[in-house]
Amino acid sequence: MASNGTGNGAGQPHRSAPAQNGKAYPITDHTFDVVVVGAGGAGLRATLGAAQAGLKTACITKVFPTRSHTVAAQGGVAASLGNMGKDDWRWHMYDTVKGSDWLGDQDAIEYLVREAPAAVYELEHFGVPFSRTEDGKIYQRPFGGMTTDFGQGPPAQRTCAAADRTGHAMLHTLYGQSLRHSTEFFIEYFAIDLIMDEEGACRGVIALCLDDGTLHRFRAKKTILATGGYGRAYFSATSAHTCTGDGNAMVLRAGLPLQDMEFVQFHPTGIYGAGCLITEGSRGEGGYLTNSEGERFMERYAPSAKDLASRDVVSRAMTLEIREGRGVGKQKDHIFLHLDHLDPAVLHERLPGISESAKIFAGVDVTREPIPVLPTVHYNMGGIPTNYHGEVLTKKDGDPDTVVPGLMAVGEAACVSVHGANRLGSNSLIDLVVFGRAAGLRCAETVTSGEGHAPLPADASDKAIARLDRFRHAAGSTPTAELRDRMQQTMQSNCAVFRTGEVLEEGHQNIHAVWSASQDVRVTDRSLIWNTDLVETLEYDNLIAQAVVTMDSARNRTESRGAHAREDFPDRDDVNWMKHTLSFCDTGARTVTLEDRPVHAYTLSNEIDYIEPKTRVY
Ligand SMILES: Cc1cc2nc3c(=O)[nH]c(=O)nc-3n(C[C@H](O)[C@H](O)[C@H](O)COP(=O)(O)OP(=O)(O)OC[C@H]3O[C@@H](n4cnc5c(N)ncnc54)[C@H](O)[C@@H]3O)c2cc1C
Repeated sequence: MASNGTGNGAGQPHRSAPAQNGKAYPITDHTFDVVVVGAGGAGLRATLGAAQAGLKTACITKVFPTRSHTVAAQGGVAASLGNMGKDDWRWHMYDTVKGSDWLGDQDAIEYLVREAPAAVYELEHFGVPFSRTEDGKIYQRPFGGMTTDFGQGPPAQRTCAAADRTGHAMLHTLYGQSLRHSTEFFIEYFAIDLIMDEEGACRGVIALCLDDGTLHRFRAKKTILATGGYGRAYFSATSAHTCTGDGNAMVLRAGLPLQDMEFVQFHPTGIYGAGCLITEGSRGEGGYLTNSEGERFMERYAPSAKDLASRDVVSRAMTLEIREGRGVGKQKDHIFLHLDHLDPAVLHERLPGISESAKIFAGVDVTREPIPVLPTVHYNMGGIPTNYHGEVLTKKDGDPDTVVPGLMAVGEAACVSVHGANRLGSNSLIDLVVFGRAAGLRCAETVTSGEGHAPLPADASDKAIARLDRFRHAAGSTPTAELRDRMQQTMQSNCAVFRTGEVLEEGHQNIHAVWSASQDVRVTDRSLIWNTDLVETLEYDNLIAQAVVTMDSARNRTESRGAHAREDFPDRDDVNWMKHTLSFCDTGARTVTLEDRPVHAYTLSNEIDYIEPKTRVY
C-alpha cells in the first residue's frame, strides 16, 4: 500500500516532542520488522522479499520509487541462460572474477552467477517485457568482458535486454509487485541517520518527511540500506543527481567502515558535455570508436576484444588517445562513437533510447553522424561491506567479517564484493535482484514477526536531530553549491582514470581543504517544508565524507588493479595488495583511518575451484 506516511503499518504512530537547541522537533514513531531505505531495483526486491515472508515491512525513499536511478539502466541484466549460444554459470563466474581483477570475493560471486538465471526468470514471471528471439526466448546481447569457455571461446551473449530500457522495465515491474504485498511506502522521506545502540547494533533509522517537515523515527529489527551509489561526488557522472550515497555516509557516521572506495568505474561513453550514458549495448550491436585520424584505435589496445574490452581498458585507451593529441573536436578532448554504419532498422529496434539521447544531448542523428563521447563516472564498486546474505560487516577485535546486528545493505550501496576492482557491464542489475532477494530470505530466517523489539537507546534521535538543526541554521559564508563544485572538480581532476602519487597527494590536500571549508557552509532557507537548500546540504555533507575516503584510499593503494590505474605503479601487486581497503572516518574530527580485509579466496561449493590470479591479457 502506498502511503503518505501516516504510519498505519504498525498501529497508530506515537508522537513525542524532544527539545533541541531550544526548538521542538516533534517526532512520529513507527515500528516495523524490516525497514528498507531505498526503492531502486535492490531496495524494491528486498522489500518484496521481506513482505512475502510475512514481515511487517516499510520502504523509505527520497524520490518516487520509479524515479530511482535504476530506471536509467539501459543495456541489460547478465545471466547464463544460454538462449543465444552455449553458456555456463562457471564461465560467467570466471569472467566476473577476472573483471574484478581478483579483488572480488569468490564465494559471493559464485552465489551471484548461480542464482542469476532463476532471478531473471523470476523477473520474466513478474512481468518484465524482455526483448525476444525469433523463437520467443529472452533476447541476450554480448557485453564487454563476457566470454565463453573460461575466456577461450567467443564472446558470450549473456546480457538479457528489454530493448535499451532494461532498468526502466525492471523498476516498474518490481514496484508493481511490491504493491501487491502489504508493504508501507514512505515516499519523499529523506533518511538522515541510523539509530545505533551502545552495543553497536542498528535499531532503525530517522527520516525527514520532505513535504511537511515532520521527523520520523523508524524502529526496525533489520534496517536494509539500498541507497545506491555516490557518482555525484564527481563533476561528470552518468548517474542521477540523487546519487549521493546517503546510506554510505550514514555508515561512516555510525563508526563503521566502507570498503574499496578507490574503485570508481568510468563508463567510456558518456555524451561529451552532458554526461548522459550511451550504453555499452551500442558497441555490443556493432558500434565502434575512432580518434581524430579516423582510426579504430581499440584494435591496437585490445586486439581480440577490441571495442568490447572491459570498461577500464576502453576508458584508459580513450584517455591516452586524447592525451597524445588524437582526440576529436575543436579542443581535441573527446572521441567519436560510430553507429552510422548500422542498419537504421536495428538502431530503431534495439537502441531507440540512445538514438533519442544523442539527438537531444548532442544534436546528433546517429544514422548519419558519430556521437561525441568521453569517459564519465558510472559506477561505484566500493560501498558498505556485506556478506552474501546482505549482512553488514565491520572489523572488530581483529575479525574483519564481524556482522553488525540489525544492519544490512544491498545494491550499489553495498560492496558484497562481487565486482571487486571493476564491474562488468550488466552485472549490477543482476546484483540488485540476486542480493535484494538474498536479503529478504535472510530477514525471513532471522526475524520473527510480532516478537518484541530491543529497547531504543535513550538518545536514539539526538545526534540526527542535532545534525539536521546545525545545517538548517548554518550561517557561514560559503553556499553549499560552491563547496559541492569544489569537491566535484577536485575529484574529477585528481581521482579519475589516470592516477599518480603526485596527483593523488595534491587531491588529498585539496579534498581535505574542501572538507575543512565545509564548516563555513551557509544555508539560506530555514523552513522545513520542501527545503531543497537543506536537503542538498545534507547530501553534500554525505558526499564530501565519501569523496575524502575515496581519495585517501586511492592514495594509499600503490598498485594498479581494475579501475584503479596508477601510472607510477602500473602492475597489479598480488603479494601486497590482494586485499580490500576498509576506510573508517571520524566525521567530527575530520580524520580518516585505513585498514584492510582479506579477499575471500574460496568458493561456496566444490563445483568450481578457486580461480587463480592470472597475468592480464586483454
Ligand atoms: C545511466 C546508467 C545506466 C546503467 N545501465 C546499467 C545496465 O545496463 N546494466 C547494469 O547491470 N547496470 C547498469 N547501471 C548500473 C545500475 O543501474 C545501478 O548500479 C543500479 O541501478 C543501482 O540500483 P540501486 O537499487 O542500488 O540504487 P538506485 O536505483 O540508485 O536507488 C537508490 C534509492 O535510494 C533512495 N535513497 C537514497 N538516499 C536516500 C535517503 N537519504 N533517504 C531515502 N531514500 C534514499 C532513492 O530514493 C532511491 O530509491 C547503470 C547505471 C547508470 C547510471
